[in-house]
Amino acid sequence: MSLSDRPSVRLRPEIIALPAYKQGKPADASDFKLSSNENPFDPLPGVVAAVAAEMAFNRYPDASALALCERLAAKYSIDVDQVHVGSGSVALLAQLILAAAGPGDEVLYSWRSFEAYPSLVTVAGATSVRVPNRADHGHDLPEMAAAIGEATRVVIVCSPNNPSGTIVTKDEFEAFMAVVPTDLLVILDEAYIEFVTEADAVTGPPLLARYPNLVVLRTFSKAYGLAGLRIGYALGPVDILNAARATAIPLSVTAPAAAAAIASLDAEKELLDRVRTIAARRDAAWTALTQQGWNIPQPQGNFLWLPTGAETASVAEALGEAGLIVRPFVPEGIRVSIGEEQAVATLLLMSADLVDALPAGHPARKIG
Ligand SMILES: *Cc1c(COP(=O)(O)O)cnc(C)c1O
Repeated sequence: MSLSDRPSVRLRPEIIALPAYKQGKPADASDFKLSSNENPFDPLPGVVAAVAAEMAFNRYPDASALALCERLAAKYSIDVDQVHVGSGSVALLAQLILAAAGPGDEVLYSWRSFEAYPSLVTVAGATSVRVPNRADHGHDLPEMAAAIGEATRVVIVCSPNNPSGTIVTKDEFEAFMAVVPTDLLVILDEAYIEFVTEADAVTGPPLLARYPNLVVLRTFSKAYGLAGLRIGYALGPVDILNAARATAIPLSVTAPAAAAAIASLDAEKELLDRVRTIAARRDAAWTALTQQGWNIPQPQGNFLWLPTGAETASVAEALGEAGLIVRPFVPEGIRVSIGEEQAVATLLLMSADLVDALPAGHPARKIG
């Protein structure tokens, strides 16, 4: 019997069909990497020193990252059990989905949204139900509420939404929660909340006391600039977080990551100054793009959404040739992170010609 005649190992067909996680393209030294919504600033000196002080790599870390949980509990005035730290908020998403949804169950979210959601749902054995974004690229919460059925176990709300940059307002969210059954887990993914400047945007932590089915996810990867260390946290009811803890791979949060997170909270003022710089750069870019004739949603994260539709691949290629490594989602649009000042300047130099080259009537072009 030849090797190829032997039956291959039986793997789950839905897993074989999953695309492997696609990271933003690596950038050459001369390129700007604007494909993963990373923070362009170097880590603050205090954060580097805190990591350097955690060199006992021969020891396992504290399994619950208690010092960081205590720090976050104090920050949000909640009990320490209402905080759960994970190796990135994607790990926490995976845990929460595993805890609530399995085969036959549905997980509901807006689409297009964060590209990690579909595969996390599939890995849990559950089924994704996607509600299309509104024409203005925001979540359609009334349609999402209408899509909730007997099999729904989790609803994910992403604000600001990756990749469209749109927010859910506090009023929209409260109206949504008022009609969602209280036995259905709602995850509010706030990975970009620190960049929000819109006053009526929802913020999760003050709502935790009101909703026993709400979990808020935050991360140190974006505004805090710790993407490479993998650390994020969930805030929510103890029973739900305990279920997430039960599905977690133990000891995934390393001591250097926890120390860096605490040091970042110590340096919050400096970090949030940097966040304001990025938000101002974003707003200026959005204004300039709008003046050039682009019709794009007002961004509230650290990225822009160019709804280039059928032209997505060609526009992304043109940007790439100019040294801007962006994230195309063919055939919907392009997400461009707000990175270095020079990168934004390059984008704005090119974007005037790019919008003029879009066919008349293209949705990414302003009318008139
Ligand atoms: C980046 C991102 C996350 C967080 O990722 P981690 O690095 O795993 O903390 C979560 N949700 C959304 C929508 C994101 O864009």
